[in-house]
Amino acid sequence: MTFAATILTLYPEMFPGPLGISLAGRGLREGLWTLETVQIRDFATDKHRSVDDTPAGGGAGMVLRADVLASAIDSVARADRPLLAMTPRGRPLTQDRVRDLAAGPGAIVLCGRFEGFDERIFDARGIEQVSIGDYILSGGEMAALTMLDACIRLVPGVMGAASSGMDESFETGLLEYPQYTRPVEWEGRTIPEVLRSGDHARIEAWRRAMAETDTRLRRPDLWERHEGARVQSPSGAR
Ligand code: SAM
Repeated sequence: MTFAATILTLYPEMFPGPLGISLAGRGLREGLWTLETVQIRDFATDKHRSVDDTPAGGGAGMVLRADVLASAIDSVARADRPLLAMTPRGRPLTQDRVRDLAAGPGAIVLCGRFEGFDERIFDARGIEQVSIGDYILSGGEMAALTMLDACIRLVPGVMGAASSGMDESFETGLLEYPQYTRPVEWEGRTIPEVLRSGDHARIEAWRRAMAETDTRLRRPDLWERHEGARVQSPSGAR
């Protein structure tokens, strides 16, 4: 199944952008995933081609109009693809959600600008609201590119033999262990002896211990969730 991405945006020229290079770019050229952009402004109905208006109740900035957004959304073939809107008010994106999306038929992604979307559009079109973190970007395009990058690298065939992806941070519920490469000694710092030992059981045990320690120290929130899951599933199975 091909992963089909449709982006609704005021700046279609921002795509594929960084997704046109490296593994994602090769995957795009090979048809492992497809990209379509829709210019929201094409669905404006007045002579000024307005897509936004002032916030109800007053305040700074402009808000994207629900009627224009709805026409843009309705112009796109849904074919069971989830409809997502990038917004800092959404549910934070996780590797679990990314994995689900990557395994599906693709996504239709709405990119906001200005003060964001008229709230009524979410319920009216059954849109899932997605945040990429607790900070404010100037538009949803960079957020959409980030989310798509995370999904596309998991689309079968995109990473090829480069990596299975299953060792990465978050895939096991933990941060990944630290990585090193040659030279063995650099600026007086040496690669840990265990990684040069050739003893695969020791290496695996060291990596596991480091992943646990780093997660506990750097991301107590993840560690707590991981420990909670372990209590519920004593075999350690996820
Ligand atoms: N007024 C909005 C608020 O305070 O929640 C912020 C609007 S922001 C300046 C403009 C657009 O950028 C948003 O509609 C959204 O599409 C995108 N955006 C900004 N930060 C984001 C984030 N952390 N995650 C996802 N999208 C984001």
